[in-house]
Formats: sequence, structure tokens, C-alpha cells
Amino acid sequence: MAQWSGGGALARNKRALDAPPAPEKKRRTRVETLTRDNYNIGWVSALPIQLAASVALLDDRHEPLPKLDGDSNAYFYGTIGGHNVVMAHLPNDLPGSGSAANVAANMCRSFKNLRFLLLVEIGGGIPRTGHDIRLGDVVVGRMMIQHELGKEDSGDGPEDTGVPYMPPRDIKTTLSAVKVRAEMGQNPLPRLLDELEERGLVSNEYFDRKRLEDHLFKEDYDHPDETQECDKCDIAQRVQRIPRQSVNLQIHYGMIASGSQVIKNPKVRDDIGRRHQALCVETEATGLIHNFPFLAICGICTYADSHKNERWQKYAAMTAASYGIEFLRNCQPVKN
Ligand SMILES: [Zn+2]
Repeated sequence: MAQWSGGGALARNKRALDAPPAPEKKRRTRVETLTRDNYNIGWVSALPIQLAASVALLDDRHEPLPKLDGDSNAYFYGTIGGHNVVMAHLPNDLPGSGSAANVAANMCRSFKNLRFLLLVEIGGGIPRTGHDIRLGDVVVGRMMIQHELGKEDSGDGPEDTGVPYMPPRDIKTTLSAVKVRAEMGQNPLPRLLDELEERGLVSNEYFDRKRLEDHLFKEDYDHPDETQECDKCDIAQRVQRIPRQSVNLQIHYGMIASGSQVIKNPKVRDDIGRRHQALCVETEATGLIHNFPFLAICGICTYADSHKNERWQKYAAMTAASYGIEFLRNCQPVKN
């Protein structure tokens, strides 16, 4: 498991001693216009706030291209690590798997040469899976499962019928490269987060992690009042966990469980975790599984329980987007 620190003054100061600062990146807008056939990576963000962090980290921004008739996506274009990347997000008022499938289908119809899609999203972490998952961490879907697929059998309870999805070899090879670089201490993710913060590429709200509390409550302690924030919840009901160094976030590789329902029940969450050895739950990827070659990258913003709120969304969106950038910088480009 890779441990990456980022977004903190302590980490920045240490890195300033360890290595020279990154040269200021001069992003430019291309003058010549590419065609849709020149784009070979599709990037789908569940939320506009995720796309904002992603677009901010592009090496180059490209001019927009005319769209195909009937394509309702709004695209952003640019370069990451030598790849021509086209980005889109789900409509604000239409989250979920159907919307994700529609955005992916439009993208693949308009851009014929896409090698694969990156689905960059947020989701709910499943604790007690053997992984110490905290808010702000990233889960990378080395495997995916549609956890709602099943059938009743002869009285022994529902039988899972979902078939696990594994990303294509192209993606798995790059995942290995990212992990190798992390093990060698050459991981630039902290610098990506710092770059976003120090250059003001996204608003300061994305870096509120230092002011956010990360409470995992016991399974049997429900959030008492939906109109109140968790400030009013009883911290004596928290699960006791070994504190992490405050600036560290971790990347977890494993199973992501996808379904159409937002999970807000810790018993359901833990049942999904046990049945599928899943590290997190989300609601978009089920529209892509077995339909498109893709990798899901999920920033953890809740524990999929009744204490779910939106406080961690922006930080988790940013860490997931930063991992996507790092992934593409480790992916060998192909000639267009
Ligand atoms: Zn609460």
C-alpha cells in the first residue's frame, strides 16, 4: 500500500529540504487544432468539482472541437503526460450509473480512438477490510463488481450473480508502474497537490482537510438528526483507531463495489464488504462495467453510513484527480 503525504506545510517544508522545487509549469493553449481522432484517453468525472481539479492539472489546454450531432456532453481537451485527453463530467442534476453510461457512450461514439476511460469519482469507504481506509484516501479499482446483482435460491438467501470486472492489460501494466515508482520514492502526487494549492489552481475549499474531522462511528450509532451536522454527534461513539500522521493519505488497490443505491447503512456497507472483499462503494461505475474498458479511481469522502455529509467531497475529488494525473504520466503514450 502506498503512503503519500500531501497538502500540508510540514510535508512541504520537508520536501523543500529533500529536493529542489518543481519548475513552474508553463501551461499553454495549443494554436493548431487537433481532430477528435487524435484523442486516445477519455476522462469521466462524476462531479464538476472533480473536473475542475483535473482540468487545472492539464499540461496543456486544447481548443474545443465541434461536437457530433446528438452528443450532449460538454468536453474539455488537453494533454497529460503526452496523451491527448478528452474530459467530461456527469450532469449536475443527473448523477448515477445511467448518466455515467450515457456520458461514456457519447464520448466513445465521438472519439473513435480512445484506448480506455478513467472514471474519476468519489465514494464511501468500507472500514475493517484489512485496509486502514480514511477520508481523503483513494481506492483504485483493480477489480469491480455490481453488488446489487443476485437472485433468490432455495431458501439459503440471495445468491450473488455479478461477474467481477478487471481492467484491460494496458491499465494493469500502468498500475504496476505507478506502484513501482511509489515504492522507489519517486511519487509526485504530493507535488501535484501542492501545485494545485500553491498556484491557486482551485479554490481554497479543496484544501479544507486540515480543518475537517475524520470520525468513523460505531455501526449501531446512527446520526441523530438529518438537519444537523456531525458536530452534534457523540464522539464517545467513535471507533477507536490508531491516529495517522496528519498529512498522510493512502492509496488502496482492490475491489470497488458499484450499485444504483447510495449506501447510508453501515450493516449493508459491511455486508457488501464481506461478500465481495470490497474496499469502497460507489454509484457510477455500474453503468460502465463490462461495457467499456475503464479504470475507476475513487476518492473516499464518507463511510457510507448515516453520518454521510458533503464536507470531504472536494478534498476527496482532488486526491482522486491527482491520482488520475499520476496514472497517465506513467502510461506509455501510443502514436496517434
Ligand atoms: Zn453524525
